[in-house]
Amino acid sequence: MACTCCDCQEPLEILDDVAIRIKQTDRLKASLDYLATAKGGWVKLYRCKECGQFWQSSTYETGVAHFYEVLYPVPPIDLQEWLEHPYLDAVQIAENRTKIMRVENELGPEIGPELCRIEDCHRLRVAHSVFCQQHHIENLQKIGALPQLPAINNDAGLSLNSQPLGCPVGVVVP
Ligand SMILES: [Zn+2]
Ligand SMILES: [Zn+2]
Repeated sequence: MACTCCDCQEPLEILDDVAIRIKQTDRLKASLDYLATAKGGWVKLYRCKECGQFWQSSTYETGVAHFYEVLYPVPPIDLQEWLEHPYLDAVQIAENRTKIMRVENELGPEIGPELCRIEDCHRLRVAHSVFCQQHHIENLQKIGALPQLPAINNDAGLSLNSQPLGCPVGVVVP
């Protein structure tokens, strides 16, 4: 049986991507071997027995007591190393990014005419804030009203966005 690893490589940017991946989970898991669990059961590690691709899964909770396991491809890793430091939770990051995008949409465009209140920022303020969109968001993150996203140069963060192994674009593997 051929695995479906190569069909499920889209990064989980936002919750819409998570919803798509949830529908692919059963088919994906058919070819996966379970390896380990970390963080009290909230993240798991698998490896595909067909192609060797590693997958991490996180638990996504929607509504009341609706839990879904969501898989995303990760680079190969030593089991002990993973148990000590699992990869970043891609589902949590997608959830956080979605929250931030919703606030950005609510803030609307930077209409000014005043400049953002932050020194050396040359952007205009949004309608209901003295700051530009970016600095308004950063302020909310500083006071804990919005989550932070991991820095792009974070090792694990990078690897979540890295090109997966063994899935050449446009080439059908026999
Ligand atoms: Zn596979
Ligand atoms: Zn600004």
